[in-house]
Amino acid sequence: DAYLAAIDAANDKFNAYVAVTHDKARDMARASDARLAAGQGGALEGIPLGVKDLFATEGVHTQACSHVLDGFRPRYESTVTSNLWADGAVMLGKLNMDEFAMGSSNETSWYGPVKNPWRATGSNADRVPGGSSGGSAAAVAAFLCAGATATDTGGSIRQPAAFTGTVGIKPSYGRCSRWGIIAYASSLDQAGPIARDVRDAAILLKSMASVDEKDTTSVDRPVPDYEAALGQSVKGLKVGIPKEYRVEGMPQEVEALWQQGIAWLKEAGAEIVDISLPHTGYALPTYYIISPAEASSNLARYDGVRYGLRVPGKDIVEMYESTRAAGFGDEVKRRIMIGTYVLSAGYYDAYYLKAQKVRTLIKKDFDDAFAAGVDVILTPATPSAAFGIADKEMASDPVKMYLNDIFTVTVNMAGLPGISVPAGLDGQGLPLGLQLIGRPFDEETLFRTAHVIE
Ligand code: GLN
Repeated sequence: DAYLAAIDAANDKFNAYVAVTHDKARDMARASDARLAAGQGGALEGIPLGVKDLFATEGVHTQACSHVLDGFRPRYESTVTSNLWADGAVMLGKLNMDEFAMGSSNETSWYGPVKNPWRATGSNADRVPGGSSGGSAAAVAAFLCAGATATDTGGSIRQPAAFTGTVGIKPSYGRCSRWGIIAYASSLDQAGPIARDVRDAAILLKSMASVDEKDTTSVDRPVPDYEAALGQSVKGLKVGIPKEYRVEGMPQEVEALWQQGIAWLKEAGAEIVDISLPHTGYALPTYYIISPAEASSNLARYDGVRYGLRVPGKDIVEMYESTRAAGFGDEVKRRIMIGTYVLSAGYYDAYYLKAQKVRTLIKKDFDDAFAAGVDVILTPATPSAAFGIADKEMASDPVKMYLNDIFTVTVNMAGLPGISVPAGLDGQGLPLGLQLIGRPFDEETLFRTAHVIE
């Protein structure tokens, strides 16, 4: 009730929720009380969570914040949310996001932008919460849920976490089932939590992760007790500092924070080593070929026949065209066009196939670093703190927005786990995050190391 009241009082201001499930939340909470009274109860009994609108929730608003899914209410529940409810968690509602998870500012949502609860010192101007999981990050930061589900294809958990002073982890590809999560770029998409601290993130990920016969890319590995990793020493841990992440034009305060992170880990007994990940510079252009290619294929299903919106036409082709023209926003259309282009006959080899080869080289950079004994890699999470809503530079040039993903996309390309942990404030009093990147399926080392930084 306290969380529902907080949402009712503050959601107009932040626009973090696109649907609040009052009745369902109270029913779930009552069921949870009954289990506890009977001496039963799971690891998350009664914990109120928000769910990104990308996760299918049975009978509840599920539109990936797109107009094209207008009115869609799935008859099934995603595996990740099913796992959370099975452990006793309670759903508060569905959270705002960039349309189909395409964006870095939550401004491409059909439901309008989310406002970051943080503002620069002495300013009333609204800042973006990051994206695409902007609603998840803002809701956690504004205490409108105890934690939230999110997804990350190129940074959409870690960048909004960094912009809102929250913790976000993208686990290894395959750790969480993608079943029931609306697909953006299937070879990159992963679910993970956004939470207020590292411990909450560890507890939530434990519940979200599972092997699932309905997702053949989910991995059959035991899910460790991540919480048990907290407080373990990082003495002797080898922390790699990749020189390619020292990008041109990086603000001094981001560089200073990175140095601060290095100092904290050194002080805690970790060994710092300089490393090279030579193909880093190709990551962004490669990502912005592979992800639109997969998106153009995944989004072909929204044709006015099977789901959501239908705009009638004189024949079926005109109906398809009118539905897609009215249903998708500009950024989504841009990605479908780029993706269709790079997959088309004559261009496939030059763009898509080439990008896949570069992706293999990016992954090999990480393999080599880990083979040389590096346990974890430390980088900034983002090249800057949260920028303003309707930022003129970003709006006039989509590539400026894409540059925000410079430190996060490599991790998805290589399928590795990455965590963003709040590490300090910039000169304007806005939160900044540090990113830790781990070996495949070694989320424990990320939690252990992040706990030293937070
Ligand atoms: N900003 C990136 C994009 O727009 C990442 C989004 C994501 O991780 N879902 O593709």
